[in-house]
Amino acid sequence: MKPLVRLIYFSSAVREMALSDMKDILQVARSNNQSKGLCGMLCYDNRFFVQALEGEREAVNELLFKIAEDPRHADVMIVSYEYIEQATFKDWNMGYAGGTPLLTELLAKLNQTELNPGKLSPKQLYALLRHLSAHQESV
Ligand code: FAD
Repeated sequence: MKPLVRLIYFSSAVREMALSDMKDILQVARSNNQSKGLCGMLCYDNRFFVQALEGEREAVNELLFKIAEDPRHADVMIVSYEYIEQATFKDWNMGYAGGTPLLTELLAKLNQTELNPGKLSPKQLYALLRHLSAHQESV
């Protein structure tokens, strides 16, 4: 069996993303990820993206380099990269959550008033994505 990994990164959008921009990203992401056996969760708020990508190591690495080149965002910062037994986000080729009351609530528990991923630990970002994945928006 090929090694399975989970990668989490955050990045800064080059401009405010509208819902239609997120739809564009998610439509392509979901279709590509399905064909590569990848899954994950994307959060966008306060002009930051936070994304978890899970799947076979080669596929995750290849996608990361492609995403890093995407001109819609910059300052891609890898938060964690770990070998996993099974995928947490396996039900979603790419789940999505934006700035919802739940996000505000989760951030408040971390003493944060807005999403600023650089201020959160890898464990906190993973937990945030995991909680958000259970309450997604249908985008
Ligand atoms: P093409 O569609 O041929 O595009 C060529 C180039 O143009 C690429 O550099 C592409 O990034 C860029 N591009 C494409 N559309 C636009 C646009 N609307 N505006 C500006 N530039 C554009 N892709 C996945 O497959 N899986 C994911 O999980 C995933 N997550 C993403 C998360 C974020 C935060 C962002 C910003 C993008 C994500 N993408 C994801 C999209 C990814 O970066 C590629 O655009 C996509 O995979 C298509 O790649 P391609 O080589 O077929 O490029």
